Amino acid sequence: MLLKSDVKKVQEFKNILDSSKSIVLTTHHNPDGDAVGSILGLFHALKSKGYPVIAVTPNGFPEFLTWMPGTDKVIKYSDQKIIAVESILNADTIICLDFNGFKRTEEMGEYLLQSRGRKILIDHHPNPENQFDIQFSFTEVSSTCELVYEVLSNAFSNDIVSTDCAICLFVGIMTDTGSFSYACSRGRTFKVAGELISKGVDVEMIQGLVYNNFSAERMRLMGFSLNEKMKIFPEFKAAYISLTKEELKRFKNKMGDTEGFVNLPLAIKGIVFSVLFVEHDSFVKVSLRSRGTFPVNEVSQKHFNGGGHTNAAGGKAFMSLSQAENYFEDMLKSYSSQLNKS
Ligand code: 5GP
Ligand code: MN
Repeated sequence: MLLKSDVKKVQEFKNILDSSKSIVLTTHHNPDGDAVGSILGLFHALKSKGYPVIAVTPNGFPEFLTWMPGTDKVIKYSDQKIIAVESILNADTIICLDFNGFKRTEEMGEYLLQSRGRKILIDHHPNPENQFDIQFSFTEVSSTCELVYEVLSNAFSNDIVSTDCAICLFVGIMTDTGSFSYACSRGRTFKVAGELISKGVDVEMIQGLVYNNFSAERMRLMGFSLNEKMKIFPEFKAAYISLTKEELKRFKNKMGDTEGFVNLPLAIKGIVFSVLFVEHDSFVKVSLRSRGTFPVNEVSQKHFNGGGHTNAAGGKAFMSLSQAENYFEDMLKSYSSQLNKS
């Protein structure tokens, strides 16, 4: 359900679409299931009504999402820079999905800023930047895909949601809620999921494609991470896993293979704060998750140049992996009372 004020915005949104000669749909760097799902869900829906849509992502997708319908139509800035930039600069409308500020698209953000096209935001992250002409920004929804469904079904009749569109939107809701286990306490999320299922989503098949489709090496990397690389701090209700470049190489790491590892320590009784450090060439990627009220987005913003949601955030540490670990262990002390209260 959209708020009353947003129902009015939907009309404005539709008028903009109707007068557009080129509409770009885009999302954040290292797109996850909700990012790819929302771009492709909207792509299928608008394409079916004859709108001139182009999907552009800053870089490629995790391997476990490449089966999604329409991935072959997406222009990746990292591979096709000239076409991506041309599309962005020539667009009269740019729909920004699953991110709240251009810098989340990394280098591509410069062209989003330069483009004179109208910018429309559809997103569920807190505190969107002041860069958008129209905003559908709800932090209460499970995912951007849920919000795309609400906007689409208000702007058009429900028949705009084809099976392919429904599959993409379902993937986003499913992955952003950890298969309907968090961020989905509003009954509405399940109603939207139900409506998508009625459009032909085969839930068991989608679960299999997303969660049971990994390489043996990825499963071994997971086992190695839990057995040898997880450090637990019961006194702070916290844990972290850190992985070096060499370890990733040893387990033939592919994009997306470490997805979900950060959640694993939260399955330990008493752990409410979990972090994954992954070494890259010039920085350490930091993923943060929590249970309850501990705001990992604030931690990421303050310490790791990032942000996100209360219970799921990301960022980067510009230091070595061992420095990042030491920094984190020191930092934990300052959150001791907050962590022990949550
Ligand atoms: P992940 O740990 O999967 O990379 O990210 C978890 C959440 O934090 C996602 O909602 C993602 O959009 C957000 N996030 C990840 N990295 C960053 C970042 O560098 N900056 C901000 N603002 N949010 C991030
Ligand atoms: Mn999302």
